[in-house]
Order: sequence, then structure tokens, then C-alpha cells
Amino acid sequence: MYKTISFLSIAIFYILSTPSTIVCGQNKIIDKKVMLHLVNKHKLAFTQGKVADYIPELGKANPKAVAFSITNENGETWSVGDNKQKFTIQSISKLIALMLAVEENGEEKVFTQMGYYGTHHPFNYFANLDHNGRPLNPMMNAGAIYTTSLIAGDADEPYQKILARIRYITNNPKIDINPTIYESEKATGYRNRGMFYLMKNYGMIEKEEEVLNNYFRQCSIEIDVEDLSKIAYFIANQGTRYDGDKTHYNKELMQLIQAQMLTAGMYEFSGEYARTIALPSKSGVGGGIIATVPNKIGIAVYNPSLDEHGNSLVGYLILKDFVQEYSLGIF
Ligand code: GLN
Repeated sequence: MYKTISFLSIAIFYILSTPSTIVCGQNKIIDKKVMLHLVNKHKLAFTQGKVADYIPELGKANPKAVAFSITNENGETWSVGDNKQKFTIQSISKLIALMLAVEENGEEKVFTQMGYYGTHHPFNYFANLDHNGRPLNPMMNAGAIYTTSLIAGDADEPYQKILARIRYITNNPKIDINPTIYESEKATGYRNRGMFYLMKNYGMIEKEEEVLNNYFRQCSIEIDVEDLSKIAYFIANQGTRYDGDKTHYNKELMQLIQAQMLTAGMYEFSGEYARTIALPSKSGVGGGIIATVPNKIGIAVYNPSLDEHGNSLVGYLILKDFVQEYSLGIF
């Protein structure tokens, strides 16, 4: 009788205690308590940043909301903080647009009129074009607008394809646009409109302004940090979804995307970021950052208070400590 009771209590203790850990390659164990500790350690740093308000609707985000999620090698998602908080994907959508543009046109065609450059300019620097009038890369706004213009389809079809791919990767059919943020982006997106017409002037884009609306739409897709960590997992694992589905498996393409993330995903901060965090990453002005540990795990952080480069400040601090704690950097 006593034996049964003590066996039961050991079993119960085991069941209750195991969810705090996850296996992460090289016999490292990631502890969910460490994730929570890092959120608590850095959450007040939001006071040193600023919520983006150049798109007026973004300015309404709660600067105190912090979330942190990883999708581990077994495809399990672990999250702490405000993990159900929704926010817009913004520039992280540029990765999905690049995925589709390259699938449809091939890498060579996409990069004939666009560079693989890094940059010392901010993401919305007016031109971000090289000496031949080509966008520097697909991660800054100019190149991203061009990339979306390469996805085939009339009216909002290219956007619908981006949305469908995000729903597929996350296995979350509820993901949709935030119409208020879309209207706000469209109404105030003069710089992006300027870049669009400059590229049209160079003969790079034939289609009309509806193409630009697709860029605004893709940026206004609303997700949460768990959706983002699944997107990171998908890219890290060469197009394998977290549940093992390989419909869009494409090693070559995910290598290209991660190379771009490393080179320009954090804009003019990318070089320093590669030194301090050393993971292919992409930020969005909505406050999300995703990072891939190639062939292993997907990581996502969220806090809408941004540094001077437009990257989540709290998100960066959490990532930096997390990567150091578990030696996740690729170098
Ligand atoms: N929609 C934003 C813009 O075009 C995206 C920028 C970003 O997330 N860095 O300015």
C-alpha cells in the first residue's frame, strides 16, 4: 500500500515537473523557468524604447506586453508572458513574400533587379537603392515592395497567397488582417508610396498601386508570439512544419532566406546583431522578432517598444541572454 502511494507520488511529481524542460540539441535542456526569468528580468526596459507611431494605429499597442515563445526540435511550442497578445506581423511578412516570389520566379530572376546587400540605412530609408537603381535587399521596404510585386495575381491575390502560407505554416486558419491597421498604413504610407513610384520610374514594376496595397496588407496580418515561433521553426527546419508536414520543404530556399535574415533582417543593426546574437533573425515594427537556430528550433519574442533601429528592445535583450545561456549562436 505504502509502496503504491510513494510510487504514485513520484509519478505525479515527475509528470508535474517535466513540462518545465525541453530538449534542445547537444543535450542541452531549456528550462521554461529560465524563459520566464528572462521576461521578468527585461520587461521594464520597455521604458527605454518607444512604440512606433508613424503608422498611427500602431501607437495604440500596450508597451508593457511581453511574450516569449520557442518551438523546439520536437515541434512543441513553449511560451511565457503575454503569449495570447495579438499584434501585426509587419516586416516579418517580408520573409513569406520572399518565399513565394522565389518559388514562383526562381532566385535568379528575383535577384536580377535586387541586391543581396546589407545596409547602413534604416528600413524605410527613402531609396535604399544601389547605384543601378536596384533595391539593396528584400528585407528593407523598397526591396520588400518589389518582392511582393513579383508574386503573380490580380488585385489582392498576392496578399491572399501570403496569408494562406502563414495560415499553413502556423496551422492556424484564424489568422487574418487587422483592417484598422491596414487602413492606417495605407493612409500614411507616403514613403513607401514614394519608393514604389521610384521603382516604377526605373521600369522595375509594371503593375499599378494595388501592388503596394498588398504590401500594406501583408504587414497588417495579425498574429501572436506562438504563431511567430512556428514560422521561425519552419524556416529553421528547411520548410518542415512543426507537426512534421513537408509540403513546402525546400532546403535551398530556406538557406537563402536565413542568409538574408542574417545580413539584413535587423536592418542597419544586423552586423552588430550578428556579433551579439548570431542567429538569422527578422524584426517587425509591431514589436515581434523571430530567430532561427538552423535545423533546430524557432524562437520568437514580442514587446512593441522599439529601439532607434525599429527593433523590439526588450525582445533583443531577452534573445541575447537566452542565446548566451544555451550557446545557441551559429558561430
Ligand atoms: N509596414 C511597415 C512599413 O512599411 C513595416 C516596417 C517594419 O516592420 N520594419 O514601414
